[in-house]
Amino acid sequence: MSTASINLYGLDRAGLAAALEPLGIEPYRARQVHAALYRRDDLDPRSWTDLPRDLRDAIADRFRIARPEIAARTSARDGTVKYALRLEDGALVEAVAIPDGDRMTFCLSSQVGCAFGCTFCMTARLGFRRHLQAGEIVGQLAALREESEVAGGAYNIVFMGMGEPLHNIQALEPALAILGDELGFGLGPRRVTVSTVGLPDRIRRLATFPSPPRLAVSLVAADQRLRETLMPVARRHPLDELAEAIRSYGRGRRDRPTLEVVMLAGVNDTPELAERLAAYAARCRAKVNLIEFNPTPELAWKPAPEERLQHFLRVLGARGVVGTVRRSRGRDAFAACGQLALLDPKSP
Ligand code: SAH
Repeated sequence: MSTASINLYGLDRAGLAAALEPLGIEPYRARQVHAALYRRDDLDPRSWTDLPRDLRDAIADRFRIARPEIAARTSARDGTVKYALRLEDGALVEAVAIPDGDRMTFCLSSQVGCAFGCTFCMTARLGFRRHLQAGEIVGQLAALREESEVAGGAYNIVFMGMGEPLHNIQALEPALAILGDELGFGLGPRRVTVSTVGLPDRIRRLATFPSPPRLAVSLVAADQRLRETLMPVARRHPLDELAEAIRSYGRGRRDRPTLEVVMLAGVNDTPELAERLAAYAARCRAKVNLIEFNPTPELAWKPAPEERLQHFLRVLGARGVVGTVRRSRGRDAFAACGQLALLDPKSP
């Protein structure tokens, strides 16, 4: 493969050193290139004045530097903005900027579409199109950060956009390295959350990364049968096996893993399931985040009533489990959880 086909954007330090080596560029230069690409977001090698001119020219001639570009934006009344980003092959992927006071949460995608078929999620309906590359993952953040002018780096990242991040762990790994690198985005592990449908072997692998992120698991129901009907992945990975993986992920960490439960009226909001959820969370040593269901015309479910959410919180509290509610954000821009499906919000 000729170096002309290599896209530098998305390579971590080790990847950059390996790519530059055939040009006779010394490994320590990878630090400078890394800082230019990710810390300064300077994508023109000819302007990298900390490198000698001949190296700048050689890099510009021999490599591509391509990161996703914003193709469209939709603003919700609450300040949430959904972006569609165009990738090099023309594919589109969505990412969301969610302001919260003077902080920002950026919600990133890991795949185009999704392979897991959760019945309550619109992204599932796209089916699986492809994995994102590491540069297509961190590039979403670079593009959104530039757009939304976050002051002093006051933002967090959640991998809760399109796709299943742990299904694409091969790209997630270098992406997390770039996000965490002080010559990259400089994000400490507590500022990055990876949310998963619950793949136990991948959760164990994530725990071995140099700086493992926060873990969130989309549990939805602490009942094996019910979970299988809502999330087909549960057939392959039963709750018992999942609990073990979650518990061991949290071992030795200050921040507990989170169980996410999207609350569906008449489905998983019964008092009995509240008790089971509390017991399961205790077993996993996890917190619980109840998520308001975001309805779309295509899906039959309705959001659970507020009194059910309050009942769940009381039961969790009584069992010593920390429970919170994630209020829906960006719904009117189809930017909310489970709504990322490349819909044109103007279409009926
Ligand atoms: N595949 C990963 C990352 C996507 S996160 C995962 O499943 O965790 C998407 C989150 O939104 C999940 O917690 C999911 O349970 C939730 N969700 C999906 N559809 C939703 C909907 N219609 N309303 C509210 N939350 C939804």
